[in-house]
Amino acid sequence: MTRDPRYDILFDPIKIGPVTTPNRFYQVPHCNGMGHVYPDSMIAMRGMKAEGGWGMICTEQCDFHHTSDITPFTETRMWDDADISYLAGMVNAVHKYGSLAGIELTHSGHNVANLYSREVPIGPSHRPVCAHNFPGQARTMDKQDIRDFRRWHRNAALRSKEAGFDVVIVYHGHDGTIPTYFLSKRQNQRTDEYGGSLENRLRLYREILEDTKNAVGDTMGVISRFAVDEMMGSEGLEWENEGREALEMLAEIPDMWDVNISDWSNDSMTSRFAPEGFQEEYVRFVKQVTTKPVSTVGRYTSPDAMVAAIKNGIVDLIGAARPSIADPFLPNKIKEGRPEDIRECIGCNICVAWDMLSAPIRCTQNPTMSEEWRKGWHPEQIAEKTTDSHVLVVGSGPAGLEAAHQLGKRGYQVTLAEARSELGGRVTRESQLPGLATWARVRDYRLEQMREMTNVETYLESELTAEEVLEFGADHICLATGATWRHDGVGRANRAPIPGMNSDSVLSPDDIMDGKRPPEGPVVIFDDDHYYMGGVIGELLVAEGYSVTIITPEAIIADWTQYTLEQGHIEKRLKQAGITLLTRRNVVRVSRESGGEITLLNTLTDGQEILPGSIVSVTMRLPNDDLYNGLMELGDAPSDAGIKSIKRIGDCYGPSLIASANYEGHKYARELDTNVDIDDVPFKRNHHNLELGG
Ligand code: ADP
Ligand code: SF4
Repeated sequence: MTRDPRYDILFDPIKIGPVTTPNRFYQVPHCNGMGHVYPDSMIAMRGMKAEGGWGMICTEQCDFHHTSDITPFTETRMWDDADISYLAGMVNAVHKYGSLAGIELTHSGHNVANLYSREVPIGPSHRPVCAHNFPGQARTMDKQDIRDFRRWHRNAALRSKEAGFDVVIVYHGHDGTIPTYFLSKRQNQRTDEYGGSLENRLRLYREILEDTKNAVGDTMGVISRFAVDEMMGSEGLEWENEGREALEMLAEIPDMWDVNISDWSNDSMTSRFAPEGFQEEYVRFVKQVTTKPVSTVGRYTSPDAMVAAIKNGIVDLIGAARPSIADPFLPNKIKEGRPEDIRECIGCNICVAWDMLSAPIRCTQNPTMSEEWRKGWHPEQIAEKTTDSHVLVVGSGPAGLEAAHQLGKRGYQVTLAEARSELGGRVTRESQLPGLATWARVRDYRLEQMREMTNVETYLESELTAEEVLEFGADHICLATGATWRHDGVGRANRAPIPGMNSDSVLSPDDIMDGKRPPEGPVVIFDDDHYYMGGVIGELLVAEGYSVTIITPEAIIADWTQYTLEQGHIEKRLKQAGITLLTRRNVVRVSRESGGEITLLNTLTDGQEILPGSIVSVTMRLPNDDLYNGLMELGDAPSDAGIKSIKRIGDCYGPSLIASANYEGHKYARELDTNVDIDDVPFKRNHHNLELGG
């Protein structure tokens, strides 16, 4: 296939000081929950990005001194010479494909509690530690501390050079590093030459930029990663004021500018809150104040949007973290003239959530993410089939679609049967809820990939019974029949059905997605799920004219979305929509008296409150396993009919995230006709060099 010449510009080499990138695709530093704890996994993941064509590939935050110990989060470290070898391993994996390797040297200052190193945290001024509201403080750095800090940074730059890196990123972003704390008027109360005026507050950053140039700038590119706006008005940095002035003061010192907005929850906004290219309005001034190459991020997955950002003079390089996670081969797909094959990021931040949970990142779109070394999974390649088996996949949600897609790719004969009149299961249904349209990409990517597969047949409006499955004559049965929301209030807070809650008096998210609506009047959404569903149903109903109250037993609304960095955005949007938010409330009973009454327990006061109206229950789901149970009840009949295996995957096995269903579908396809020893750990592990008491 030939590439559209409009996209040629994306493959121009870009000079960054003494080094040159092979193209404009820049995988910005991104956390991944592997780092120094699972180094082989981290190395293979970065190497995969290089294989996929990213021109410059960077580490995540790399703490450069043990006074910056971000435990329990898992990042890379360059604390001493012993760290050089595993980071050199990443460099080698990246160089193998001709890409540049970058390292982001980080000191988290009072963002961290130093739980492992036990050092007293440091920062520009005495401040409480941010992480987890740890009840300890950072101490003010004196002049000797500043000299030490500069030496540690320089030493880390020299070690980075020894490891073979091409580029050093001097990190000033996300309201979580010592240079940002020095710049911040909120955090820096110093009265010496490092406090007060903008020039003073920028001094330390200028010094470490210059130190880095002096130490390694002859052979390595030096990038400034800088947040120009904190999205908090005059309380913080604004691009129209000090953000721009800071850029002007340092404009020509680094070899490249990687600019963004802060903090992380603003920089990595989900698709529910920001579209592709959303940072352009904040950073478009940067190229006017520097002659050095400029990059930004903005969940770019469309080559047209990338070309426009370059041609409109906003950036020279396309920065990307999440698009490179969802599709490590994005650049090569554009290069090879097949952009329709791009597995586009849906902007859900499940990747972020796993990092926040200190576990290797997962991706809703890319089930092979973090499995490159552990399971040997390649995002674009899968083994050919080893038998001529015919597989019947029942259900076309994310689990069934991914199973059918990958089985089809392996060459199996696949039949995909779906009860509804449309494919996509929960992805199709949920993408019609407010703010979730982009989620349909999970379905669309797979349908596009299967479009020309003659070995995959799809049947809509085919709700299969156990007898029909038996008669079908397939060798393997893959059940991906999904799950259904309960109506009775059972969930985390309530182990038994709540009196008065049943399918007649209560709507569930499935009912809402089926088009059912509460009677006119006030509606209470009982959110004991704590993710997105309660909030988006609230948005939907309020837009239709209902008066909506969301109650939750937790202390904050949509508690789990703290991990996806959405909680603050969600709370703000729901409040702006006029939705009443009540936390620490449980439902005691629902009655139909006076047109509907809901009795709540306020767990702070232990008092009861009565709200009028009807209720939507968002608590938990139950697997749709009737078909499986029906097949099991047939005893030996399936094996007598030649069926070799019957397996459940996705939500009908264990209701969970879309990412989990997609992974299950992928795993099913990988493992078909292989011998899986369920007593054995199904992946490789990093083992440490133990002293074993010696
Ligand atoms: P998952 O997230 O596990 O992929 P979903 O709920 O998204 O699950 O999708 C399950 C799909 O299975 C739904 O589209 C549903 O209509 C379909 N389905 C459920 N039972 C049957 C059945 N007996 N025959 C065919 N399709 C079914
Ligand atoms: Fe994008 Fe979601 Fe994958 Fe993260 S998990 S890369 S946001 S699709």
